Amino acid sequence: MQTVAGDCAKTNLLSFDAAALTQWVADIGQKPFRARQLLKWLHQRTATDFEGMTDLAKEFRAQLESLACIQTLPILRDHLSADGTRKWLLDAGQANAIETVFIPEDDRGTLCISSQAGCTVACRFCSTGHQGFARNLTTDEIIGQLHMANRLLDQPVTNVVMMGMGEPLLNFDALVPALRLMLDDNAYGLSRRRVTVSTSGVVPMMDRLAQACPVALAVSLHAPDDALRNDLVPINKKYPLADLMAACRRYLQVAPRDFITFEYVMLDGVNDQPEQAWALIELVRRHDVYCKFNLIPFNPFPQSGLRSSPRSTIRQFATLLSDAGIVTTIRKTRGDDIDAACGQLAGDITDKTQIRQRLSEQAAARPTDQPIAFRRRAP
Ligand code: SF4
Repeated sequence: MQTVAGDCAKTNLLSFDAAALTQWVADIGQKPFRARQLLKWLHQRTATDFEGMTDLAKEFRAQLESLACIQTLPILRDHLSADGTRKWLLDAGQANAIETVFIPEDDRGTLCISSQAGCTVACRFCSTGHQGFARNLTTDEIIGQLHMANRLLDQPVTNVVMMGMGEPLLNFDALVPALRLMLDDNAYGLSRRRVTVSTSGVVPMMDRLAQACPVALAVSLHAPDDALRNDLVPINKKYPLADLMAACRRYLQVAPRDFITFEYVMLDGVNDQPEQAWALIELVRRHDVYCKFNLIPFNPFPQSGLRSSPRSTIRQFATLLSDAGIVTTIRKTRGDDIDAACGQLAGDITDKTQIRQRLSEQAAARPTDQPIAFRRRAP
């Protein structure tokens, strides 16, 4: 029977990137080329046991059997949407669950991976944020989601987005080895452009990511000014927009991808007015950040008190950005029928940080008809 990945009493080999696996193999008295062989078995062939690793010496396999294991999080539920989107609910132990979503398209297959069970950032429009926070995932639990998907899907995962549950940059030490495995030619061999880390704007960690593993970067922006962003994305109080934009510029100096993707969830009467589009244009021009915008129709959930912008408003907002020369896309909503759309990943999280309490206190403190920060500005 499978156990939670972190519960494996032996060494879970999915915890190691290439360098760490080479060290571990050396520590048990084996040559470095064995690590390369093992890496291919683990990640290219998504092996789940050592028995089938027929090109490894019998004695080495016996050693692996006694010292190591290959474990991914157990699957609690496996949903397939009518549009082909597939969502797995995974058991993260102690009554917590995380989610992984695969989105097939004509020319690609994108896997959306979680980095934490829950999230401490508590964005207002995010179902995960309302669930609270339980714990960081380990490297094997992060990469294990890609391992599982490649094992179970009929088509390959060509793109990975770290946009599932959690703020990946607040779990930096576990994230980076997993990213390295995604890029490693002996493991998943994805190009840096096909691996995206999405952050709410943890400025110091954006700088560290640029140095450690500069994959494509998406930033959850959602507001053109600090007052509104403080309310929607509370981490903005710590790292305000000027600091965030400066960090984006520094990232672009070292990132192989030459633009930042700004994610912008479209909230009716909150952040979707023409003057807010103009303010965004002014913001990215003032800070000279080469960027693309991805407008996301909001997926309402009961506790949010928010509504999605009408389609016509979203299109109008996109046109204003596009007319200013900014590449702008509107995200297609996928997997609606299985709650796999963006912001709907909730799992079931034991809140150890009182986020739910904080959110309900904030909601109680707001006037019920129209909150100040959300008032439509005059045209
Ligand atoms: S949007 Fe991302 S950072 Fe914000 S609460 Fe949700 S998971 Fe956390």
